[in-house]
Amino acid sequence: MTEKGTTLRLLIMGPQGVGKGTQAALLSKHYGIPAISTGDIFRYNLKNKTELGKQVQEFIDRGALVPDELTNKIVKDRLAMDDAKDGWILDGYPRNAAQVSALDTMLEELGTPLNHVVALEAARSILLERMQKRAVEEGRSDDTPEVIAKRLETYEKETSPLLDVYESRGQLVVVDGVGDIESINQRIIQSLN
Ligand code: AMP
Repeated sequence: MTEKGTTLRLLIMGPQGVGKGTQAALLSKHYGIPAISTGDIFRYNLKNKTELGKQVQEFIDRGALVPDELTNKIVKDRLAMDDAKDGWILDGYPRNAAQVSALDTMLEELGTPLNHVVALEAARSILLERMQKRAVEEGRSDDTPEVIAKRLETYEKETSPLLDVYESRGQLVVVDGVGDIESINQRIIQSLN
């Protein structure tokens, strides 16, 4: 249960560089539920050179989506873990229409409906600035200018249309992602109340 005594299952969506990971971590602490990032799971596997890491490397390196079979399985296994039974925040999933359907099926099977979808928004110039800063700080292999551009393009084409899907289901909460980290966090919490 979260601090408010309710179960909370949340998606956090938005383009690369909008601050999804940062906000997911803060929400995880605030509500006492795990933040699950498919990107982080992939990066962990890349770093540790696991079989999965080897399978996903080429997709991540060119800023393309990892095939759905691999991604869906990771999420399905993770959502079934014990610490996810009272809620979770999914960061970076779903990213295309097929993943929305896969998630719908998983949640139906688990009997755990989604509560809200938080969409963080920021202008492209701000996203580029933040990603360039992160490239220097974290040295991610997919934070080169070419791959950044490709990832934003993939987002626009495949992921941003999903916001309309969740809007039509009445689950979308749009939050301004510009400002300091703490104010954005307060904005999200207020809009979820
Ligand atoms: P992220 O840190 O969320 O931007 O993810 C980094 C990279 O991991 C992406 O550019 C994709 O190659 C891959 N990835 C993360 N999440 C997904 C997903 N839901 N579906 C497919 N590929 C993903």
